[in-house]
Amino acid sequence: SNGGKNISSKPPPEPSPLRRAKFFKANMRILVTGGAGFIGSHLVDKLMENEENMVIVADNYFTGSKDNLRQWFDHPRFELIRHDITKPLLVEVDKIYHLACPASPIFYKYNAVKTIKTNVIGTLNMLGLAKRVGARILLTSTSEVYGDPLVHPQTEDYWGNVNPIGVRSCYDEGKRVAETLMFDYHRQHGIEIRIARIFNTYGPRMNIDDGRVVSNFLAQAIRDEPLTVQLPGTQTRSFCYVADMVDGLIRLMEGDNTGPINIGNPSEFTMLELAETVKEMINPAIEIIKVENTPDDPRQRKPDITKAKELLGWEPRIKLHDGIPLMEEDFRKRIGILRK
Ligand code: NAD
Ligand code: UDP
Ligand code: UDP
Repeated sequence: SNGGKNISSKPPPEPSPLRRAKFFKANMRILVTGGAGFIGSHLVDKLMENEENMVIVADNYFTGSKDNLRQWFDHPRFELIRHDITKPLLVEVDKIYHLACPASPIFYKYNAVKTIKTNVIGTLNMLGLAKRVGARILLTSTSEVYGDPLVHPQTEDYWGNVNPIGVRSCYDEGKRVAETLMFDYHRQHGIEIRIARIFNTYGPRMNIDDGRVVSNFLAQAIRDEPLTVQLPGTQTRSFCYVADMVDGLIRLMEGDNTGPINIGNPSEFTMLELAETVKEMINPAIEIIKVENTPDDPRQRKPDITKAKELLGWEPRIKLHDGIPLMEEDFRKRIGILRK
């Protein structure tokens, strides 16, 4: 007896190119906008570890670089498209991680009109895409939606204190509109949305000269230049290592909560403390100097991550003291100055 089953003596057919295509389609197709950037490329690395995932990156290389994705160029589950998301995009995907947007103040102020177009028209296009193909979409919003916060630490229900006509508005008001669009598409069209409010993140592959504080201090310390603390130096930030951030974003996407949910590291430092830490760890001979600040600089920032802990089971693991050496190694290689 064959146990009631019909056993065929024919071997299974070789998969034809068409069957192979179908096999790939059966996998999870994920679009990452801004995937050539700092956080995006680390997210792509993590998503590619899962054999179920096919990853498509759309990026216009404004602040990102193909170099960040070089390790995946020939991979059959990976595709890279040069595309500006302020223009419509037609692809068939199941999930969209929507990160495209310059994140460093120098770059987002460089062409403010383009920044707000990326946030508004770009997000609208990604929502139109999500609607057409029925994809779930995650937006990387920012702690900047809280502006110069009057509530400390910041909880998700705080509405923020934002200047609508300042030099940072293209970014922070742009992200606020992006969040509004997400919720309107959710309510009106039933789109599955996820919103992460990301707090300051650091790690390997940050642009070396992008003006953000951790990358500035590290590059300065490596080049034997003074660390430039912008006045007054008592302003605070809380820094999350990029691997923790990526883990939080994936948990948010895979979970059942729309958010917004703060994702960041609640350990808070003044910029003077950060400078002292970098000096002590990397180059004790270096000088710390005070320089002018830019307008509308938030005086304090620290996430309340109660929601992320309860709803995503997430909290950051990597402390600043452990993260800085990981970033130092990458910066030294790229700057070309090894440890003395
Ligand atoms: P990044 O500048 O390294 O990456 C952004 C990527 O988007 C780049 O590759 C860039 O080329 C691409 N891009 C920009 N405009 C585009 C457009 N019009 N079309 C297509 N691609 C475009 O920045 P990041 O630090 O990796 O930030 C990623 C996301 O996280 C951004 O949405 C940012 O607002 C958000 N975020 C980051 C931080 C942080 O500390 N890094 C904090 C809060 C929020
Ligand atoms: N869109 C896109 N890719 C798609 C579907 C739509 O880029 O696969 C763009 C579309 O060009 C439009 C935007 O998304 O500008 C919003 O689309 P929606 O269908 O919501 O609005 P409508 O096209 O009716 O204005
Ligand atoms: N900052 C600084 N020295 C620098 C660059 C930035 O002291 O060389 C300060 C800046 O004034 C701000 C903080 O570091 O208070 C964080 O700035 P960043 O541009 O990194 O991020 P964001 O303002 O978006 O949080």
